[in-house]
Amino acid sequence: MVSLWRVSFLVALGVTVIACAPPPSVTPTPAVPVPTPTTDLFTARRQQMVADQIRARDVSDAEVLRAMETVPRHEFVLPEFLDQAYGDHPLPIGNSQTISQPYIVAAMTELAQIKRGDRVLEIGTGSGYQAAVLSVLTDQVYSVEIIPTLAESAAARLKRLGYSNVVVKNADGYNGWEEHAPYDAILVTAAPDHIPPPLIAQLKDGGRMIIPVGPAGFFQTLWRVNRRGDQIVSENIMGVAFVPLTRGK
Ligand code: SAH
Repeated sequence: MVSLWRVSFLVALGVTVIACAPPPSVTPTPAVPVPTPTTDLFTARRQQMVADQIRARDVSDAEVLRAMETVPRHEFVLPEFLDQAYGDHPLPIGNSQTISQPYIVAAMTELAQIKRGDRVLEIGTGSGYQAAVLSVLTDQVYSVEIIPTLAESAAARLKRLGYSNVVVKNADGYNGWEEHAPYDAILVTAAPDHIPPPLIAQLKDGGRMIIPVGPAGFFQTLWRVNRRGDQIVSENIMGVAFVPLTRGK
């Protein structure tokens, strides 16, 4: 997990190293990449993204805004879309899939009301970006991706960036991830045409599921599903457009 204080510490360390001569003979190996002038440029764009696209709309949870300011979205997009990494729209990630629009990632994260210690399941790892945002807010994130190459590349990317509290599995997420259930929160980032019963079964009492439901290729409805004992309460949040949840053979 990449925490802000650790990044700040590394920035401070970097400044000290540059300012002092000679440099210390032992340079600690950083757990997260030391910001370079390139990432500084992206930091400004990321702050702008949060201000203009997320805070200016209806997302106000300070922790969610902090997570969106922290996670380097440009690391999760294809090189040819680098200059659009902080744009107000989804982007292709290969295999006919997309990384969601930043606002949708933030809104879904806020709706899930994640607090530290929560066990979170994501269905549809894609690039790993949503999983990284979730991992800033808690310490156990499980993510399931049906396309093997995406699962593999997202797992490698998350590891390289230091998001060690995210575990990725290549499987059909319709079935959830039984082994680590029950979950405090489940986020589904591909749209099924009905709520998969296994996901309801794996939701903890008091747990929240954020899920787009609707026909493939059209707009769907984003639902927040709350489990209270055996009672399921669903709230219709907004219209959204997601890639379909496909099924394994
Ligand atoms: N959350 C991703 C974007 C999701 S795009 C991100 O932050 O980048 C939707 C993803 O869901 C795609 O990668 C797609 O392959 C995956 N998907 C579709 N059906 C699935 C299923 N049944 N189980 C798991 N993943 C699925």
